[in-house]
Amino acid sequence: MQYSTQINSGQLLGQTEEHLCYLSERVAIHQHMKADFTAMVDAAKTENIELTIASGFRSFDRQLLLWNNKFSGKTPIKNSNGEIIEPKHLSPLELVHSILLYSALPGASRHHWGCDIDVYAPNILPKNYQLQLEPWEYHEQGPLALLSTWLKQHAHHFGFYFPYAIFQGGVAKEPWHLSYLPLAKQYQQAFDIDSLAQALKNSDILGKQVIIENIADIAKRYINNVCVAPTNVILPK
Ligand SMILES: [Zn+2]
Repeated sequence: MQYSTQINSGQLLGQTEEHLCYLSERVAIHQHMKADFTAMVDAAKTENIELTIASGFRSFDRQLLLWNNKFSGKTPIKNSNGEIIEPKHLSPLELVHSILLYSALPGASRHHWGCDIDVYAPNILPKNYQLQLEPWEYHEQGPLALLSTWLKQHAHHFGFYFPYAIFQGGVAKEPWHLSYLPLAKQYQQAFDIDSLAQALKNSDILGKQVIIENIADIAKRYINNVCVAPTNVILPK
């Protein structure tokens, strides 16, 4: 099957759901990713790993809410060690950079595309465990180490890779974030900084002025600065 997806700015910016299919009431993914994603879930299941999506598609408005809650101090901002940052002493630009370590700008989240997902495996976690989505949980001694090992060995067979496999000075390392290469590379290529800036200007985002002033630098450091997909990722025929 060929994956010639009609990409438009609504999909890039998280302002439409036409490209999605819902797996449950709250989890949606790109419809052209469903077959390979399901095959990966089935393969993991044969090794007793219940590969589950913690976060799939996210809309512009949802990302805007997450952003504004962090900017206003409603939800805590963490550094890469999981420590909470005190925003009081930060300049608006420093605050923007602290948020961007873990949260994308609305309009610039790969979760808008539907082909990027955050995953975990509830069945290998201790009972009543509250998932934090912090790197240590996925490392060797962490409760999700088994999942990480499995994904490193098998995810590429289904077209998936880790765009935040290592910290490159932008977004933090995210060992839970998978990207489906056949679609993601098309969205990544189609990214348009002017449409993003326009969407942000039209929105109620907190920190708007400093974001718009620094949008080129933000795009370079966070949006375009993702890990290159390994060459062993299998593309669908
Ligand atoms: Zn993610």
